[in-house]
Amino acid sequence: MATRQHYFSQPDTVELVKNRLFKQLAYYCLALHSLLLVFFWYCDIWVLAAVNVGSVIAWSVGIKLLYMHQTPLALRLFCIEVTVHSVFVCATLGMDYGFQYYLWTIASLILLDYQLKLKFASALALLLILTFAMLFELFNTVQNTFLFSEFAPYIHFINVLICALPNIYTIGHIREVSFSNRYQLAQMAAIDPLTNLFNRRYAKELINNAQENSIETSQQLSVIMADIDHFKTINDKYGHEIGDEVLIEVASKIQQHTLHSDIAVRWGGEEFLLVLVNCDLTTTQARIESLRRDIATHAFNDQRLPVTMSFGIAQWHPALPFRVAVKLADDALYMSKARGRNRTTSAHSDAVQHSLQ
Ligand code: GH3
Ligand code: MG
Ligand code: MG
Repeated sequence: MATRQHYFSQPDTVELVKNRLFKQLAYYCLALHSLLLVFFWYCDIWVLAAVNVGSVIAWSVGIKLLYMHQTPLALRLFCIEVTVHSVFVCATLGMDYGFQYYLWTIASLILLDYQLKLKFASALALLLILTFAMLFELFNTVQNTFLFSEFAPYIHFINVLICALPNIYTIGHIREVSFSNRYQLAQMAAIDPLTNLFNRRYAKELINNAQENSIETSQQLSVIMADIDHFKTINDKYGHEIGDEVLIEVASKIQQHTLHSDIAVRWGGEEFLLVLVNCDLTTTQARIESLRRDIATHAFNDQRLPVTMSFGIAQWHPALPFRVAVKLADDALYMSKARGRNRTTSAHSDAVQHSLQ
């Protein structure tokens, strides 16, 4: 059985995207260090060639860890590698070539290690930035006989670019995933997954807002309760899954008949609630009758299942509490059922007036 523990131990989208991005980054760094290895070897700077042998090994091990989904461990290994590499290169060549900027890159990426507490990850990032600052103090005046010293400004420029790209790329991607996760969460909180209509909890917020607006603008509101007729029989006769399909098709019919300003809600099982904004009683009756007819004549599940719906309409004076309007619509729905179903009943204006007193 899926437990809460099990659910939260599954890698989420952000973790999967991070893993994919770090793999790309790791291959990029592996290629870079392989080139540097050859380059330093060509320039007879043995110590840096040896450091880059270590780097190539570190990035290869890191890639292996990423494939084993040990993303935090890989990230920490990359962090150590980048620090060691930056310190050695700056100590040997000085600061003119820009190898120190890699510390900035890794300082922001270490914050993506969600296994570390934020405070600890931030302290580590700060330590890396302090190391960056210290390198200037320690190695700003290092003299070297580097073969390509006249190219220092170009190498510096290239290093700045190489350091910036992973940051922009990674943080940009994580931002997109966070947005899409937030959107999905908002959807899940607001929408009934079966019918794609608003769920009851979220709809109440929308209805409150519509009520406040209508009080300000003196617009008319209508509340409609709708219920599928003999739905239990449909379930019993054709099975629960066909029943679900009927619910989906009914909801889609409701959506086709509602405007952008209307609020369509799956109120419970096979019961729906509609709030029509700025809609008088006559227009509401005409629109609901048209929906009722459309449902009664629709070939459900391509089998011409006999699906009909009953409706109860109440005009909602926004000064009345919402629950009173729902009660009136519910009573009207009950009347529709009692009168033989597949029909629309409007709450008597007397009942509405009575509720207002
Ligand atoms: P009436 O015409 O008086 O409304 O009769 P009814 O059979 O529609 O009403 P009743 O309240 O007796 O039955 C409603 C049924 O709706 C019972 C329940 O199993 C079914 N139901 C509720 N939610 C779902 C759902 O999500 N999927 C399916 N397939 N059935 C559901
Ligand atoms: Mg029913
Ligand atoms: Mg019902």
